[in-house]
Amino acid sequence: MLLSPVTLSVVTPMYNEREAVDHFVARLRPVLDGLGDSYEVVAVDDGSSDATVSRLMQLRAEWPQLRVVALRRNVGHQTALRAGLRAAKGAYVVSIDADLQDPPEVIGEMLAAARREKVDVVYGVRSDRSTDTAFKRQTAGLYYRVMRKLVGPWVSDQAGDFRLMSRAVVDVLNGLPEPRPVYRLIVPSLGFSSAEVPYVRAERVAGETKYPLSKMIKLTLDSVTSFSAAPLKIATWLGLFSFFLCVVLMIVALITWLADAVVPGWTSLYVAVLLLGGIQLICLGLLGEYIGRIYAASQGRPPFLVAFDTAALDVTDSVAT
Ligand code: UDP
Ligand code: MG
Repeated sequence: MLLSPVTLSVVTPMYNEREAVDHFVARLRPVLDGLGDSYEVVAVDDGSSDATVSRLMQLRAEWPQLRVVALRRNVGHQTALRAGLRAAKGAYVVSIDADLQDPPEVIGEMLAAARREKVDVVYGVRSDRSTDTAFKRQTAGLYYRVMRKLVGPWVSDQAGDFRLMSRAVVDVLNGLPEPRPVYRLIVPSLGFSSAEVPYVRAERVAGETKYPLSKMIKLTLDSVTSFSAAPLKIATWLGLFSFFLCVVLMIVALITWLADAVVPGWTSLYVAVLLLGGIQLICLGLLGEYIGRIYAASQGRPPFLVAFDTAALDVTDSVAT
């Protein structure tokens, strides 16, 4: 086996984090310098439209371990993470958000836990997220409850994407052909030995959340459809339900007709049409989610394109000199 050139890679997806990046670097660097291990920081710029990349390039001048991987366009948090995992060279890889909601100091604990307990994965588990909005906490709570049901009990409650993984785990993840992997579900389902480190979720240091409701819904759809065909079964049950409802409506109409009462045509008609139409659309949409995934996989397009990676620049620099 090839020895990894560095012990630790810290992978951070960044999307329009110009306001947070200085704080992030100022807090991360002393932690990593204090570890006593070799390391690299892989800052993945997810097609930011602000000055994140140029600021990162400036910071890199004073911090050679800071590596910038710039993607050509915004591909979303999970895919940016994917790009970072591909690029990372470390024997251990930590993924962490750029907004200091995941405290960098915990990285030391994670590394120590991995070595002490000889495990492949160390999850950062949010013991307290009172700094998140009530809406975020509620929706996240529901998300983890549903995912534990769908994926299995090994999905740790409140374990997001702040985790440490060994090279073995990262190699497995990098070999996955899935179009849109949801790492927080895939990693626990692989069955590697693991440990947990609790941490308190801090407030975003600067800027706004880059996860609006639409992105949360997308993540949830990807999470569900990549792990379970249960929604397709729900479609069958919805279909059966509407069939029985229609039978009941028919019987009601028949009785009113036999009783010579005026059939209240319009109401029952459009209720039935709307109900059936709605259920059919839901089922079609569900099918579409799965077919869309199959389609994306069969196209085999690259999920992201790297515009540049400063590690490659370093190589050309050293070749040129
Ligand atoms: N992020 C990204 N691409 C996106 C959205 C978010 O790389 O399209 C990054 C973002 O810069 C941050 C991390 O993903 O480092 C988590 O995003 P954020 O903190 O906005 O999410 P929240 O904590 O509000 O769920
Ligand atoms: Mg955040």
